[in-house]
Amino acid sequence: MKVTNCHLCGSSELEKVLDLGFHPLADFFLKESQLQEAERRYPLSVLLCRNCGHGMNSFVVPAEVRYQENDYSYDSGNSKISVGHFTDMAKEVSERAGVQKGELVVDIGSNIGTLLGAFKDLGASIQGVDPAPNIVALAEKNGIPTINDFFNDSSAKMILKKGRAKAITITNAFNHISPLDEFMESVVSVLDKSGSFVIELPYFLEVIRKKHFDVVYLEHVSYVAVKPLVPFFKKFGLSITHLEENDYMSGSIRIFVGYGEESPLVKKQIALEQESGLYDVDTWKKFAASVRDCKIHLLKELVDARSGGGKVVAIGAAAKGNTLLNYCGIDTTLIDFATDASPLKIGKYTPGSHLPIRSDDAISEEVTHALILAWNIADFLKSKISPKFPHLKFITPHVVE
Ligand SMILES: [Zn+2]
Repeated sequence: MKVTNCHLCGSSELEKVLDLGFHPLADFFLKESQLQEAERRYPLSVLLCRNCGHGMNSFVVPAEVRYQENDYSYDSGNSKISVGHFTDMAKEVSERAGVQKGELVVDIGSNIGTLLGAFKDLGASIQGVDPAPNIVALAEKNGIPTINDFFNDSSAKMILKKGRAKAITITNAFNHISPLDEFMESVVSVLDKSGSFVIELPYFLEVIRKKHFDVVYLEHVSYVAVKPLVPFFKKFGLSITHLEENDYMSGSIRIFVGYGEESPLVKKQIALEQESGLYDVDTWKKFAASVRDCKIHLLKELVDARSGGGKVVAIGAAAKGNTLLNYCGIDTTLIDFATDASPLKIGKYTPGSHLPIRSDDAISEEVTHALILAWNIADFLKSKISPKFPHLKFITPHVVE
């Protein structure tokens, strides 16, 4: 579906600021049998709302196709880093939202229940909601009660049977949702008046600050910053009561929303966004030019490695890596295979580029170069692989300043 109006303010004044061509869904990892089938591609461009500043994809793939047509392959417990992050997050949310033992915490897009498991350990009553059937089966196996549905009016009614929630969390999923108005009505219906709705996701400002263009992919309906959210939440009688940036996914923001006073941090953060040029079309023109330069540099590096007799692999088959691979037109001509630790991905193929995904053990002496796709955990991956293969040259695909 082509986007004609802003998801937050409804304005039709939308300006295209980045065009990455046509892409398959980034999380649509393929089984071998699917390699011979036609692969759907959709336009992948970023629009900036000239009215409120919200960033969004120009095209929304129906949510049923994104999460229910193929096995969803992201697993929130896939690394020690993510487990540690969600354990800390449960502690912070419990303290700030004042969650007492036995009070209800709801996690939307709860995945295999990594965050909810941490809330459970702290004594909260928990409820997950997730649309992906294969992921919900894993959550239930972990003892995390999970409704297999989108978070909407009907799942909200099911949750209300347990009472109102003292905290509703949504990590790396608020940016996947459309329409947001209906979604917020369901949040308001479940949230306790003294409770907090807590959003955590990759921060839009980081795309500009760190040139992370590969966080742009089809599953991301929106790119979230603070300024456009303020009037949006106001429509529901809510304010941003606290916010903080953190290093997760190489640059996330955690936003607490509730019926209390707006935090003074909000004005400071908006000033930062404006000073960085996040809402200026000129900033985006420069950014788009640097994204094109990134493609040229990366392709040159890979071609040089290959033509010099090298063997290249890709490390960490993250969804964002698929934006990079498909935007640059990289396939098995340049990269032999990708590696990943997740059993949900090993044995499958990357969408579009069709790189076979193997376990990390598949790296051998003859591999000369490793392109790091999961750059957000680059240091961790390097420290894991380097001691065994000290000759290996790492390529990190960041945009050259
Ligand atoms: Zn808008």
